[in-house]
Amino acid sequence: MLSHSFATALPNFVSPWRVEAWPDAHIKLLNPDFQLDDATLWQLLKQEGHAQAYAGHQFGQFVPMLGDGRAVLLGEIDTAFGNKEVHVKGSGPTPYSRRGDGKAQLGPVLREYLISEFMHAVGIPTTRGLAVITTGETIARQTLQPGAALVRVADSHLRVGTFQLAAIRGREQVLEVLRYSAQVLDVEADTEEATAEALLLRVMQSQATLVAKWMRIGFVHGVMNTDNCSLSGETLDYGPCAFIDAFDGNAVFSSIDQQGRYSFGNQPHIAAWNMVRLAECFVGILDVDTLNALVQEFPALYRQAWVDEMAPTIGLSSSPEALELLDDLLVLLQNHNPDYHSLILKLRNNPEGAHQWLQPWIQRWQALEPDRELMQAHMPNWIPRNHIVEQVIQAALNQDWDVVREHLMYARDPFNAPVAKAPENPTPYVTYCGT
Ligand code: AMP
Ligand code: MG
Repeated sequence: MLSHSFATALPNFVSPWRVEAWPDAHIKLLNPDFQLDDATLWQLLKQEGHAQAYAGHQFGQFVPMLGDGRAVLLGEIDTAFGNKEVHVKGSGPTPYSRRGDGKAQLGPVLREYLISEFMHAVGIPTTRGLAVITTGETIARQTLQPGAALVRVADSHLRVGTFQLAAIRGREQVLEVLRYSAQVLDVEADTEEATAEALLLRVMQSQATLVAKWMRIGFVHGVMNTDNCSLSGETLDYGPCAFIDAFDGNAVFSSIDQQGRYSFGNQPHIAAWNMVRLAECFVGILDVDTLNALVQEFPALYRQAWVDEMAPTIGLSSSPEALELLDDLLVLLQNHNPDYHSLILKLRNNPEGAHQWLQPWIQRWQALEPDRELMQAHMPNWIPRNHIVEQVIQAALNQDWDVVREHLMYARDPFNAPVAKAPENPTPYVTYCGT
């Protein structure tokens, strides 16, 4: 049932590898959407797979060899959601582990599972969790926690970093990755040049859409390094991610993001920067003027995507008046830092009860007759706010899996779940990379 298209097509970008033998492994969560039973999952985990090789810019610094340091790509399977790559994160050391132990803790694994289920439920492209497994080990990071692994699926684990590794090895390998990516992303063109151009545009469009959706929901990815920037436009590698409570473009949660490079408001700029890094890989296939012209389209693509997400979030279709209202709203939010999610729900349910400073804006907005159903479809009642995620992780660490399951139910059906209220005493929230 497993195929190995990635490894077969790109042998220079993988090392054959297996998931390590775990001392006492238990499946704690199994995603019902994928209809796999325990026995089949154990069988999958025994198969020989591959650790992927890629390069990447980490916080702006180029690292020529990163690769899966704690993950194994088992291969591809057919699912109810189409053909998917199956990846195991927390699989033990690999040839790319450098100084890392290749392992993961239960808290971060559960965090990725919960948040990615939510992202999927609200229509944001993402890798998805297939299973959460505890390994029977104890793993030390900021704290001691049970060891765990996340089995996850993605349309593709091709990243900007895959092309970056190809680019330092030369044109032949760039063409190899280009051919396979074009096949995976369904990009068809007659020549290498046309394929490179179409692929770059496709990735730019999907990143613009993805980041616009993150902004709509208040998501901060936290580590938008080029090795975590997926060519298929899926949210990839939930490490130090978080949702904003108070609206603030400068919001940063990750302990290592001292400069605010990956702050909430900077995400569109970083996506643009990442697309330039991708374009650089095509120097030698396309001329520099063409590449420059292409990447300069990103801001317009993003602006359109942002309007397409935000206008319906406030119940409007994208007219010039709606655009003006959106831009004004952004300024008000940045000046007053209200709780973002509560404010959008307030607009939908009881705009008269909203903050005084918003009332003049609300009058202009109501004149456009906002559509409440549209608003409802773009902002769920429940979002995995930081204090809720922490509560779920604590419950799992205390073996209280009923609490975990209850919140997973909300994550999977957030439009019908109870409202996730803002924390009463918002405290600064710090997240860590170590899934
Ligand atoms: P990330 O930015 O979290 O996606 O990780 C960046 C790189 O560090 C990737 O190559 C990971 O595989 C690697 N890495 C992260 N944590 C570990 C770990 N515990 N052991 C080995 N490699 C790791
Ligand atoms: Mg990564």
